[in-house]
Amino acid sequence: ATPTSVLVSTGQAARLGVLFRKGSALQMLDELRVVVFDKTGTLTAGHPRLTDLHGCDLPPEVSETDLLGWLAAVEKPSEHPIARAVVAEAEARGLPLPTPTDFTALPGQGVTATVAGHHVAVGTDRLMAHLNVATEAGAPVIAELARAGKTPMYAALDGRLAAVLAVADEIKPTAAAAVAHLRAQGLEVVLVTGDHPATAQAVAARLGIDEVFAGARPADKADIVRRLRQRGRLAFVGDGINDAPALAVADVGIALGTGTDVAIEAADVILMSGDPVGVLQARDLARATMRNIR
Ligand code: ADP
Ligand code: MG
Repeated sequence: ATPTSVLVSTGQAARLGVLFRKGSALQMLDELRVVVFDKTGTLTAGHPRLTDLHGCDLPPEVSETDLLGWLAAVEKPSEHPIARAVVAEAEARGLPLPTPTDFTALPGQGVTATVAGHHVAVGTDRLMAHLNVATEAGAPVIAELARAGKTPMYAALDGRLAAVLAVADEIKPTAAAAVAHLRAQGLEVVLVTGDHPATAQAVAARLGIDEVFAGARPADKADIVRRLRQRGRLAFVGDGINDAPALAVADVGIALGTGTDVAIEAADVILMSGDPVGVLQARDLARATMRNIR
């Protein structure tokens, strides 16, 4: 390998906003077979909005508005885009956000805290199961929200189901084209997400992706990547703290520059613009460089 060709290529790459942190990424991208994408913040904009909040069996002294304020208070310390959506809605309605105590974030599952004397939890069915909260009453609404491509969540108050809520996130304008081009190059494209299976399917269908793994916690994402690597060289593309383990075990970890520092630290390649088309640019640069070297 001539160092000059690598340098020229990476200079060009930098102008495109593609940063290579590891030289070996060039060869891995040249030999690429499989591209695994995270969904939220990677193929979707990552700026979800709260679209639904349905109280379930709320105690009479608690209004849906009170509940929204408490949910927002619990979400306030979280960096997750879902958390920002809940907080934004509460702030838009001018609700007071009490300061939570005992805040706990469970990556890929949700958050819990004590607010205004109540134990409040927001997140997935797995989080609710972990807290022994029965979710049957909310399950039909959850399923309907997910089929609409929204991300549904349960909220619990003092150990009982209190509400079902959902956020919706727009697909990035270039995401479907990026997927189509990768597939046209003969690559397999896979979606892996912590989101609800029906939500993941709805989004995948709009993107032309037919292989989907949903409900994946951070460690599950890494296990899926390890398994899919058996098909050949694999790139994982992600943006979140929850993606760091998968970025680390992929042949090429590709983080979006718009993502969290933890993801960027774990990656071999960084796409500064946050545009999924950058995966194609990175691959084109890698192939051109490898041709020069050979
Ligand atoms: P993705 O893989 O799509 O980026 P995550 O792994 O970050 O998603 O989250 C998976 C799921 O965990 C979310 O769809 C949501 O149901 C739940 N979740 C994660 N963080 C939060 C939070 N701060 N508040 C509520 N729910 C959350
Ligand atoms: Mg993400």
